[in-house]
Amino acid sequence: SGTLTVAELAEKLNKDTSEIIKKLMMLGVMATKNQDLDVDAIELICSEYGVEVEEEVQVDETDIENYQFEDAAEDLEERPAVVTIMGHVDHGKTTLLDSIRDTKVTEGEAGGITQHIGAYQVEENGKKITFLDTPGHAAFTSMRSRGAQVTDIAILVVAADDGVMPQTVEAINHAKAADVPIIVAVNKMDKEGANPNRVMQELMEYELISEDFGGETIFVKMAAVKHEGIDDLLEMIVLVTEMEELKANPNRPAYGTVIEAELDKGRGSVATLLVQNGTLRVGDALVVGNTFGRVRAMVNDLGRRVKSAGPSTPVEITGLNEVPQAGDRFLAFEDEKKARAIGEARQQKQIEAQRSDRTKVSLDDLFEQI
Ligand code: GDP
Ligand code: MG
Repeated sequence: SGTLTVAELAEKLNKDTSEIIKKLMMLGVMATKNQDLDVDAIELICSEYGVEVEEEVQVDETDIENYQFEDAAEDLEERPAVVTIMGHVDHGKTTLLDSIRDTKVTEGEAGGITQHIGAYQVEENGKKITFLDTPGHAAFTSMRSRGAQVTDIAILVVAADDGVMPQTVEAINHAKAADVPIIVAVNKMDKEGANPNRVMQELMEYELISEDFGGETIFVKMAAVKHEGIDDLLEMIVLVTEMEELKANPNRPAYGTVIEAELDKGRGSVATLLVQNGTLRVGDALVVGNTFGRVRAMVNDLGRRVKSAGPSTPVEITGLNEVPQAGDRFLAFEDEKKARAIGEARQQKQIEAQRSDRTKVSLDDLFEQI
């Protein structure tokens, strides 16, 4: 939002500067002709003359993290939930992720060979569910620390023979901070010494109260290693998804978050992107964190080449000039020149930030020596 001097405002309103100064004085504002007026004062004066003020909002287009993505209600459609699996070490997170993939992916996608891209999708009762396949905590914390919120539902895995442990509590805190609903998977039910009631009792302290105890938290008993309870868990995820009313607009340029990225010897920069809104297409111009480019090729979680990816879909892309970081936001542009300009401006900003960091460090060093 810009501002105007008294003289500039007078010119715009086609009035004498002295008249404006007089009006301002009557409103209790003492001003000289070259003084900048704030928006309130400008609006007051304009309303005196029956002129409506249209404030020109200056959008910083390089600030892709804070872009306002407003979609009209009628453009919104249901989208799959994005689910993260969390819990204490050795309670069965990896086993559960593998087990879900094994049970579901071979069912529907004949011949589909899953490929690790950091996330995958399965279908339950005709509804897709997206699982983030990255080590739970690390992904969650690094993404959240970078302001990216990608998870809709958290699955808290607790081994029935071990109960609530320190990282269980950490996981609960992360999910609560992100305001994400929690489903508790009481795992290792096949083990001797499995005590699901103890898990339920221990979790009451963290306000995760099962329906058995009069609460609302969903608990699913399972044995991930034996593929037991997987369908129950997926059904509950679908139930929670419906309650959350997750929506997105597939008919707009895509934006979302980097799940993981690396430099591949043959393919260059390879990044797994989670599309959170809009549809990403091969050929789209992109700004991704401090990198940019064009989607050269796009591969889904089954290793198949795809031409487009809608909301909540993870895809691996090539075509960026450099390797972005997990947690970086991305934004697609219709205009490649614009993407390049914004990408280059962001790179420049980053270089300057690094340079000033270095200056600060060397100054500190200097003072230490003195
Ligand atoms: P993470 O550290 O949470 O990813 O745990 P893992 O998935 O690596 O599992 C740790 C160990 O527990 C492995 O040896 C798994 O085979 C075992 N495990 C996982 N789920 C079950 C289960 O349902 N029953 C039993 N008996 N063992 C399990
Ligand atoms: Mg693991």
